Amino acid sequence: MTRHVVLQKRLVSKAKKAKEGLHKAEVSLDIARLAYHTAIGEIAAAGGSVREIGRELGLSHQRVHQILEVLSCDFCAAPRRDADAMVAGGVGGHICDLCIDLAVRVFASSSRESDGRTTLRLLSAGDSSTCTFCKCKQSTRKRSINARRIVAHKQNRICNECVELCEEIVAEERAKRG
Ligand SMILES: [Zn+2]
Ligand SMILES: [Zn+2]
Repeated sequence: MTRHVVLQKRLVSKAKKAKEGLHKAEVSLDIARLAYHTAIGEIAAAGGSVREIGRELGLSHQRVHQILEVLSCDFCAAPRRDADAMVAGGVGGHICDLCIDLAVRVFASSSRESDGRTTLRLLSAGDSSTCTFCKCKQSTRKRSINARRIVAHKQNRICNECVELCEEIVAEERAKRG
């Protein structure tokens, strides 16, 4: 093995480690944001007004309102309190644990699936809409096993990579609660 190849291997494994670290940090950030928004939702559910919450946390009441408004699932409209877990995307989107499970089923069957609460469908291969959670489009190489596919409910969309991340977050949430 030449010195050059050894060096490259070391750099690649360093980059892979860094990528893993970034991924973990992103998951932690999502969990922290979820915990924060959930706590605000709990104060509101206990009767706290938007103005009171804003004053206590140093937020404008518009911001509190915005946080409370998005605390429902984009795919089934379940409010936060009815879901075991709700994942908030970094750039937008909210999905509850039940819709995450349903999305997994849609990707597995490659067709429309319903669980009695809501229906999710797979976007057709040529559809160039983006994932609400990560803003990525579907892969055009649909035969590849790493292809990005998107499921949708009305205007709300989530891709298989975001669903995988959501599954990890929900598993961590469940583990924390015991
Ligand atoms: Zn849902
Ligand atoms: Zn995505």
